[in-house]
Amino acid sequence: ENGDEDVTLKILYCGVCHSDLHNLTNEWGFTSYPVVPGHEIVGVATKVGKNVTKFKAGDQVGVGVMVGSCKTCECCQQDLENYCSQMIFTYNSHNPDGTKNYGGYSDMIVVDQRYVLRFPDNLPLDAGAPLLCAGITVYSPMKYYGMTEAGKHLGVAGLGGLGHVAVKIAKAFGLKVTVISSSPQKESEAINRLGADSFLASSDPAKMKSAIGSMDYIIDTVSAVHPLFPLLSLLKVNGKLVTLGLPNKPLELPVFPLVSGRKLVGGSDFGGMKETQEMLDFCAKHNIAADIELIRIDEINTAMERLARSDVRYRFVIDVADSLSQ
Ligand code: NAP
Ligand code: ZN
Repeated sequence: ENGDEDVTLKILYCGVCHSDLHNLTNEWGFTSYPVVPGHEIVGVATKVGKNVTKFKAGDQVGVGVMVGSCKTCECCQQDLENYCSQMIFTYNSHNPDGTKNYGGYSDMIVVDQRYVLRFPDNLPLDAGAPLLCAGITVYSPMKYYGMTEAGKHLGVAGLGGLGHVAVKIAKAFGLKVTVISSSPQKESEAINRLGADSFLASSDPAKMKSAIGSMDYIIDTVSAVHPLFPLLSLLKVNGKLVTLGLPNKPLELPVFPLVSGRKLVGGSDFGGMKETQEMLDFCAKHNIAADIELIRIDEINTAMERLARSDVRYRFVIDVADSLSQ
């Protein structure tokens, strides 16, 4: 039912985030089945409640990683709803009344207007969908940790959904960008297609050694357990490493390279609603969207297998209308 504060969306496209894969395989241990994943949702508003002022039927809208929060705590008041202790995820979550939430691998969703975004006209609906998680998850820490100064050198570890959007957003901020990847075959695409300035194969010790102490910041999007020592070594004195990946086991934190170079390791969740809108508008202005492989829902199992092998260029997006056509 569409309540007074709600917007009903006809879903057109939904991105496939690695978090969907972690969730549906219960890697994090808190999946409550049945689960319908999907938190990079783009669609059209088909119905709005009587208190809805931000949207009207027919508007192009988006929904990201969250669909609720307490609205009154310090975080909510500071537009950091994503850090509210009562934040409600778009799927694999429950509402205060006990009902369960299902995500965007679907043709419809009903969401409180506060958690609905205006989707800019000049962003492609399909390739723009991944911005709703991948985009904000890399944009928010770049802003918060002060990683936007033109000319500074950013390393992006892991060239998948988050990583490739990080490259594009960082280039728009005027940064020098180096991709750090476990897949040497991604080198030419990283540079020629995505616009990175250089590429480091993490499996090449000589190249890794030659880059020691060369980076101001690193955004780490690796989805699996991996050593931090090589990444921390790439940072200059006072360098910052922000970890965004969510492997199911803890990463080991080597303190020697941290202490000896006054380096900082931080984390970051996706982002609040205000900042997510700001990011969408920023991407629209700079013509930034994801590089996608459009699939039908009946291709999702193959897509998930490929995602697990880091074999995606660079985000799968489900075409919902096409999936429903015969
Ligand atoms: P993705 O598209 O699968 O990309 C992850 C990349 O990590 C892969 O393409 C691969 O890049 C690298 N990688 C994977 N396994 C590796 C291994 N064993 N060793 C080294 N590198 C490896 O995933 P994504 O959707 O970008 O998400 C990345 C991570 O961020 C996931 O854990 C996801 O759950 C998490 N996430 C967090 C937030 C947040 O709020 N903080 C939001 C969204 C997603 P290369 O081939 O280049 O090495
Ligand atoms: Zn996600």
